[in-house]
Amino acid sequence: MGDPSMLGNGAQHPPEWTSTVVGHHRLRHDLAVIRLIGEFVPFAAGQSVEVGMPQHPHVRRRLSPALPPSLDGKLEFHVRAIPGGWCSGTMVADTRPGDEWRIGTPRGGFHVDPDGEEVVMVAGGTGLAPMRAQILELARTPTPPQTYLFVGGRSPRDLYAADMLHLLSGELPWLTVIPVVEDLTDPNRVDEWYERSRVDIGFSADDLLHGTLAEVVGSHGAFTKHQVLVCGSPAMVASTLDELIETGTPAERIQFEGL
Ligand SMILES: Cc1cc2nc3c(=O)[nH]c(=O)nc-3n(C[C@H](O)[C@H](O)[C@H](O)COP(=O)(O)OP(=O)(O)OC[C@H]3O[C@@H](n4cnc5c(N)ncnc54)[C@H](O)[C@@H]3O)c2cc1C
Repeated sequence: MGDPSMLGNGAQHPPEWTSTVVGHHRLRHDLAVIRLIGEFVPFAAGQSVEVGMPQHPHVRRRLSPALPPSLDGKLEFHVRAIPGGWCSGTMVADTRPGDEWRIGTPRGGFHVDPDGEEVVMVAGGTGLAPMRAQILELARTPTPPQTYLFVGGRSPRDLYAADMLHLLSGELPWLTVIPVVEDLTDPNRVDEWYERSRVDIGFSADDLLHGTLAEVVGSHGAFTKHQVLVCGSPAMVASTLDELIETGTPAERIQFEGL
């Protein structure tokens, strides 16, 4: 268990918990969904945690669980490999079932008031993970607020969780998912991992809105009476915030995090 241990100078290590990889699903050449089970980690849905893996035992990277906390110790992470990145490439390509990960320092993140106003979530790439955790947390409450999830990628195949989101929005009447792509067609380059994991469930071409997340979200007008959450790459977060503020969404209504 992750009890704090004393350092020589009287300071304390932050607690860490151990969790074992039980599933590694490589969905794209640069993206994997990783499932673990282990000690209960006391985070809140929408927070991120620090992760250490056996391939880089002295390094920690911050990831956002895609599930709310569960007493049986289930964790799920969505990881995108950053070109030239030290750890993300290893997580995507070299993680194996049985690997023991260290999990610690839950921090920051998003909060949704389940009794509050309508919710607008804007997720670019793996920015979907903390939103997904929040949606599943809201699903446990008696009357979740109407929630609009804008989820974006460069092209349709970047929407790596299209099947899960399609099923989720079918199950949850208070959830509307709006898929957004910058290009309506996929690049010619074959992604063998995409070809292997293709399923028939997902968004149809008619469901897709064309543009950047910033443009599409901005075109929906000011969100003056909403809880607004934005998560994705620092560039996507910056452009979406600019657009939201410019189109009249009050800054104090917006929570955001760059990955
Ligand atoms: C609160 C928080 C939550 C996060 N949650 C997730 C998550 O759920 N899933 C996930 O995949 N990642 C997440 N990240 C990002 C993650 O922590 C790492 O920063 C990322 O995986 C890169 O690590 P690395 O070791 O591969 O790259 P590093 O070796 O640390 O960096 C290599 C190079 O890549 C650049 N770089 C680092 N990050 C990015 C980026 N996002 N875009 C472009 N260039 C970059 C660096 O500047 C550096 O030049 C989160 C980050 C934060 C702060």
